[in-house]
Amino acid sequence: CGIVGILGNGPVAGLLVEALGRLEYRGYDSAGIATLEGGKLVRRRAAGKLKNLEALLAAEPLYGHSGVGHTRWATHGKPTAENAHPHRNGKVAVVHNGIIENFRALREELKARGHAFESETDTEVVAHLVGEALAQGLSPLEAVAESLPKLKGAFALAFLFEGEDDLLIGARAGAPLAIGFGIGARDGEIYLGSDAIALAPLTDQLAYLEEGDYAVLTRQGAKIFDAANLPVERKRVSAPVSA
Ligand code: GLU
Repeated sequence: CGIVGILGNGPVAGLLVEALGRLEYRGYDSAGIATLEGGKLVRRRAAGKLKNLEALLAAEPLYGHSGVGHTRWATHGKPTAENAHPHRNGKVAVVHNGIIENFRALREELKARGHAFESETDTEVVAHLVGEALAQGLSPLEAVAESLPKLKGAFALAFLFEGEDDLLIGARAGAPLAIGFGIGARDGEIYLGSDAIALAPLTDQLAYLEEGDYAVLTRQGAKIFDAANLPVERKRVSAPVSA
């Protein structure tokens, strides 16, 4: 239901949870984050309120400087920790808003190729498609660009990749997603968020993706591509939201 991603100048777990707290107004039944700990993808996920995720993080902290977070409003699969996002396969973790309409067919194809699923969600097929492409040697950008056209439905996605501390990829296909640019004390940071409210404590400098766009973020900036894989510019705007 709510998405946030951060390439930070320092640890991001607390910032991710704070941003998720600002997305609570959208409603949710579970929450989770993934960060890179020494290059490795590590997740913390909990059913119920954000305070459950916060308690888990207090007991088992994460220190990574890049990460993604999610508040889930379950559409496919019960609101359990196992079904909470991020979902992962191989070297990718993904958070997702919306619905992958053709997930059953994709899951059967992936199972036939040897993939084992650990959740009941529609989302997990996205992790497996991208994870499979990475395992075949494609770059993260190639793997995402190859997987997106296979997905039907209305959704937004954010991806974090093992071993890639300076990379986030976001995609918009029927649900909003914005890139945020760190300014002032947060110069050099860059963000993904499902709305301006999520990113308000971090920045008010946003570039909204348009339908079909996907974006590659590094701390140097963002490269945006349209559905035809052509590079495009999306205007950076100031989106004031009371912080
Ligand atoms: N369809 C996905 C799920 O049920 C994402 C729901 C959401 O937007 O939170 O896990």
